[in-house]
Amino acid sequence: MTKEINTKLLVIGGGPGGYVAAIRAGQLGVPTVLVEGAQLGGTCLNIGCIPSKALIHAAHAFEQARHQVKGSPLGIRVQEPSIDIAQTVHWKDGIVQRLTGGVGALLRKAGVQVLAGWAHIDDGKTVTVQPHQGEPLRVHCEHLLLATGSEPVELPSMPFGGAIWSSTEALSPDTLPKRLVVVGAGYIGLELGMAYRKLGVEVTVVEAIDRVLPTYDPELTQPVLDALKKSGITLHLGCKVQGWDARHGVHVRNDTKAEDFTLPADRVLVAVGRRPRTAGFGLEGLQLDMAGRHVAIDAHCRTSMRNVWAIGDVTGEPMLAHRAMAQGECVAEQVAGKTRRFEPMAIPAVCFTDPEVVVAGRTPAEAKAAGIDCIEAHFPFAANGRAMTLQATSGFVRVVARKDNHLILGWQAVGQGVAELAAAFSQSIEMGARLEDVAHTIHAHPTLGEAVQEAALRALGQALHV
Ligand code: FAD
Ligand code: NAD
Repeated sequence: MTKEINTKLLVIGGGPGGYVAAIRAGQLGVPTVLVEGAQLGGTCLNIGCIPSKALIHAAHAFEQARHQVKGSPLGIRVQEPSIDIAQTVHWKDGIVQRLTGGVGALLRKAGVQVLAGWAHIDDGKTVTVQPHQGEPLRVHCEHLLLATGSEPVELPSMPFGGAIWSSTEALSPDTLPKRLVVVGAGYIGLELGMAYRKLGVEVTVVEAIDRVLPTYDPELTQPVLDALKKSGITLHLGCKVQGWDARHGVHVRNDTKAEDFTLPADRVLVAVGRRPRTAGFGLEGLQLDMAGRHVAIDAHCRTSMRNVWAIGDVTGEPMLAHRAMAQGECVAEQVAGKTRRFEPMAIPAVCFTDPEVVVAGRTPAEAKAAGIDCIEAHFPFAANGRAMTLQATSGFVRVVARKDNHLILGWQAVGQGVAELAAAFSQSIEMGARLEDVAHTIHAHPTLGEAVQEAALRALGQALHV
């Protein structure tokens, strides 16, 4: 006989959305059950944000060491370095284990009951969980939270398996390929493509449209494009892959030039986007309103069915871990009876290429498209002392503000280490800062953050160092 339990909140999915919702609900005294079919931490901790940043860091350290061999202006002399990729993967896995173990401990501390198994939705208040071992369990809940995340999009002509990698396989290589073809010049393709290049792999990127990182504006991506070319990565923009065979490699078509060619490859990383995980667990039976492929939600993260909530990647773009977490916290508080809405002024986004790209709020083009009369100003890292000491002078910080009252609408930056500026960018927008607020805040010297202050000063016509 199927065992039955009751709870107030049932969360399906233990990624950043689901586990944060469960922890917060537990903290607020809401009886909570969380079901996770794979690993706690979801895509982000196991096969996404964290392992990719670990690999990117290791690749960068290796490249730095290799650079010194040629003779360093810093006076460092090293012999030819080598990389033990199995050890790199082992180190990366250690970080993942520490973090996922920590999530389990936090859930226990918050009193959340974690069920390891796959959930199947019977109706909006009943879910059957098939544990990895033992009999199925039926869970009855007052509130159901969908946090089932997303999965990589497969190309019909190149299904995943063998030499065709998704990001998951690319994050745990047994050995390094000699030649890697990357399909898609978006987040994953460029973050991991650049990392593999730094590890000494010959990398070729094939992108369907005529530019890289299409979600960012061309001015921001130009330094990334320059770095790609300088690193020796071959780019084929405006090209589509047609298929693959082990003998010849990847078959590519350039429609504009009506040209077909083949790229030899030992491995192919397909990174052409991710799609919300909405099938295979009974979600269709709820007949929720959808927005294209993702579950439609309102400003409270409510779906079209009462007391069924959805957060994170299953609710579409932007598919970012920090958005999922913020939505998770928001839903938990509402289930606990608090009044909350999910209406952020800005969801920052960072691309961990080298140089990094960070955006928060509106770009100049977005502000203009919204009919806002705005001012924008740049401050180049070439004029920043800290950037010089870091040998990281490419890139800039850009600010966008209303012309009439100087309210800051957006920040963008490209450069080494600019990911860490995301906090300052988002805080100033959420707090309704004006250019004067940032321009007259004392920024520590010497830091990259001074470029933020200088951009604000420059927008006011008061730049000091440019
Ligand atoms: P997920 O993290 O996907 O978690 C969903 C969980 O639900 C999974 O663990 C899954 O096993 C579980 N699940 C699904 N269905 C069921 C079911 N029926 N029963 C039980 N369990 C189920 N974002 C960033 O913000 N910064 C980054 O640097 C970044 N880097 C990334 C790098 C890579 C290579 C990838 C692939 C993604 C990256 N992302 C990054 C995106 C980020 O990982 C996702 O936005 C985030 O994980 C979404 O969280 P989520 O909770 O919505 O879903
Ligand atoms: P993406 O949407 O960032 O990029 C996909 C790229 O593939 C696009 O440039 C698209 O034009 C191209 N493309 C699509 N079909 C193609 C085809 N047939 N041939 C050649 N190119 C094609 O997707 P992704 O890189 O797979 O990443 C998925 C999502 O994961 C991201 O959108 C993001 O939400 C998340 N992510 C975030 C980070 C981060 O925050 N730093 C890092 C990695 C992933």
